[in-house]
Amino acid sequence: MNPQFEAMPVSIFEEMSLAAARHGAVNLGQGFPDFGWPEPLLDEAARLLREGSNQYPPSRGLPVLREALAAFYADRQQLALAPEQFVVTSGATEAIAAVLLAALEPGDGAIVIAPAYDAYAPLIRRAGGMVQEVVLRPPSWRIDRDLLAAVVTSATKMLVVNNPHNPTGRVLDAEELAAVVAVAREHDLLIVSDEVWEEVLAPGARFTSLASLAPERTIKIGSAGKIFSLTGWKVGWAAAPRQLADVIARAHQYLTFATPPHLQAAVATGLRHIEWLDAPREGFGSARRRLAEGLEAAGFVLLPSEGTYFQCVDLVASGIALDDRTFADLAVAHAGTAVIPLSPFTEGKPERGLVRLCFAKHDATIDAGIAAMTKAR
Ligand code: GLN
Repeated sequence: MNPQFEAMPVSIFEEMSLAAARHGAVNLGQGFPDFGWPEPLLDEAARLLREGSNQYPPSRGLPVLREALAAFYADRQQLALAPEQFVVTSGATEAIAAVLLAALEPGDGAIVIAPAYDAYAPLIRRAGGMVQEVVLRPPSWRIDRDLLAAVVTSATKMLVVNNPHNPTGRVLDAEELAAVVAVAREHDLLIVSDEVWEEVLAPGARFTSLASLAPERTIKIGSAGKIFSLTGWKVGWAAAPRQLADVIARAHQYLTFATPPHLQAAVATGLRHIEWLDAPREGFGSARRRLAEGLEAAGFVLLPSEGTYFQCVDLVASGIALDDRTFADLAVAHAGTAVIPLSPFTEGKPERGLVRLCFAKHDATIDAGIAAMTKAR
């Protein structure tokens, strides 16, 4: 048995979802919406399941999806990505795994910006790489050039960025993006930019893809599950400079080989009908406000959230003298809501007074979550 995996805890998302089910609690933990997907997309997927192909698609993804992705990103983010630069994967997590396996050699360093999505570090290590953690601090969670440059060594080959950022909800500004690009160019690093939340933005937030600023060295990760609020579909992709895309495709062929073709084709249709997201977007905007206002009225102090489905609560500033883990365990077992503690997302010295709540829920669920949070105080 591989000791790395034997010693690994169950992912905090899975742990909290299982605890929510066990205790019959409202689940504002794991990030999945209970509304907001375009109905026509479900019809399209069902039709394709019946009438389309149910056999292996090409390993790199259906041409119709790769073409739709190229057109989508040209339109939405002015990216000059060709269909051949995409590798379609079974979810963005598989894309991350394939990219790390393809890009890292044993001993290579990969900079991870904490709090960091929990899949990065274990996958870097499994790929033989070494995690070089940069720890950001609230409430600003700002990245700057010195912070990044301080961890670079001769072993460093890669910078893993997540923007918009899970779990903090931050969206990087122009200065921070420039810092990432400058450090990457100075030290000739690859940028792995996990941009799965690119379409989930708070009103007024502006997202810029690192693939537009440093196309020569950026591998962009995307997710249909996040764009269309269908997280169980597990259709993701990586877009990379051509030669790298070829190598990522090699890694992908021995992970899952391919991704269900009817879902790929349905996603291609969805990407060509982005207006289907107008109504869900409005719904998320009001859900975002509803959770924030409800929590504030109950005396909770919130951190800013500019993107993602997530809102972080500052327990200490809210007058709660429990660490995040204890609060989350009590909240799910005794108050009736699952939330995500932030400390598992940092390996070094984590903040221990922050929890994350998912607001992509119906009003009744949000209200029940606010009531349970109030009880948990
Ligand atoms: N991205 C989801 C979240 O942040 C979790 C995904 C998962 O559980 N694998 O909540």
